[in-house]
Amino acid sequence: MYIIDISLKYLASVMPHEPMKLNAHPTNNTVGWRFDNSYTRLPDYFYALQNPVPVRAPHAVMLNHALAESLGLDLRTLSDAEAAALFSGNTVPEAAQPIAQAYAGHQFGHFTMLGDGRAMLLGEHLTPSGERFDIQFKGSGQTPFSRRGDGRAALAPMLREYIISEAMHALHIPTTRSLAVVTTGEQVVRETLLPGAILTRVAASHIRVGTFEYAVRQGGTEGVRILADYAIQRHYPDLIGSENRYLSLLNRVIERQAALIAQWLLAGFIHGVMNTDNMSISGETIDYGPCAFMDAYDPHTVFSSIDQSGRYRYSNQPLMAQWNLARLAETLLPLIDPVQEEAVTLAEEAVHTFPQTYQSQWISGMRKKLGLFTAEDEDAELIAALLSWMYKNQTDYTNTFRALASENLPVDAVFQAPEFIAWHVQWQARLIRQPESRDSAQHLMQAHNPAIIPRNHRVEEALSAASEHGDYAPMQQLLAALADPYADVPEYYDYRTPPTPSERVYQTFCGT
Ligand code: AMP
Ligand code: MG
Repeated sequence: MYIIDISLKYLASVMPHEPMKLNAHPTNNTVGWRFDNSYTRLPDYFYALQNPVPVRAPHAVMLNHALAESLGLDLRTLSDAEAAALFSGNTVPEAAQPIAQAYAGHQFGHFTMLGDGRAMLLGEHLTPSGERFDIQFKGSGQTPFSRRGDGRAALAPMLREYIISEAMHALHIPTTRSLAVVTTGEQVVRETLLPGAILTRVAASHIRVGTFEYAVRQGGTEGVRILADYAIQRHYPDLIGSENRYLSLLNRVIERQAALIAQWLLAGFIHGVMNTDNMSISGETIDYGPCAFMDAYDPHTVFSSIDQSGRYRYSNQPLMAQWNLARLAETLLPLIDPVQEEAVTLAEEAVHTFPQTYQSQWISGMRKKLGLFTAEDEDAELIAALLSWMYKNQTDYTNTFRALASENLPVDAVFQAPEFIAWHVQWQARLIRQPESRDSAQHLMQAHNPAIIPRNHRVEEALSAASEHGDYAPMQQLLAALADPYADVPEYYDYRTPPTPSERVYQTFCGT
């Protein structure tokens, strides 16, 4: 009772009355912005007011019109110069209130105070249906949290985030989206001089596990309470009346993350930098750095050049998510129960549900990939046998599943070998044991086994054409193919081909 009473008081002072009210004075603009910046109503230690640092000669190279339309924005009314000025931050729309958000995080296991060092939240845009989205710039200049960084971003990594986040969206994996990329007309100094760019990212919010870690250190229990109430109001308003809303929040984030990580593994995605500052409370995939999709199936796959120990390798992602969620749980302890031992017991119980929730999400996704509508105990073995065969034979993860979903199996020798044939017989027998027709099973499989993923060698090819030669055609074509990854489009068959040994990308870089 005590906890809930206090929290409601803070809720009233920080947040507009529920449901969130629209901005009383909508911005008069042709694009259609409707800003209402609730984050700036949090205590001031949560952010720093900070305008984007103007750039010399901005030029819009990517505009996501489909996304804009879904947000109730019309970018087609903008001239090239206006689009460039808008998405570089050279002109800030009326009613936007740019801030750099403060946060902390465990990076590769080590705690650090961080914050938006090269990002800025332009504001929160309300769609015509009242949904709230963060509009964030990445690469928009220095902030009080830049430490020794230049606040800038290079073009290729921003285009990379654009490609991968849009691909994730088309794969139905919760993710931030990419609205625009502008080049800045300035160079950034990395190992070499690179063209600078700014990405405009759209997110349900940028509240991270690391934001809670920051709140508890900066604002103590009250700080976390304010942030938790804000997060509940913004993402999980159905929890407002629940008996122990902070424990419910923890449970909800655990559920969302378990579902998210299961989807990553099902798609063969490796995030690469699962630090607590890169884990969103909303359950979206956030902060695309050295992420990549795996070609040949290998659970040990790690791409990131900075992940020396393989902490964030493919198969370790569920464990690392749970580790991060334990850090979140720690910040919520005093809110979960005033008696510490009680709080610890409850929080531990919650965090320990992760493996099972994850596993059941994953196996239900795997069943769909194999055309199974029903559940049998032996399914886990059937799946394990397939994966172990894939690993042994280094078959392509995406193509193998897609092949199972097609009428005819590939003619490759591995698919004709006795081990696979034995597995196939078992699988066929399993399919027959379910009441659903073969056709339905095939449809289920085709809807859950993409034909096209953003393969590293194709992504790199598109990035170097754009970044080194100003040629955006390969990127546009790749994006068109990735927009409908489950379709069978002959024009895009080429994107299904795994890399040859010489094309294979072994390492990806943050590019920060
Ligand atoms: P990231 O690897 O993008 O998740 O960033 C980790 C932290 O480093 C965040 O606090 C970033 O804001 C900060 N950071 C990354 N690159 C830069 C940069 N070029 N200038 C300033 N801060 C940066
Ligand atoms: Mg980050």
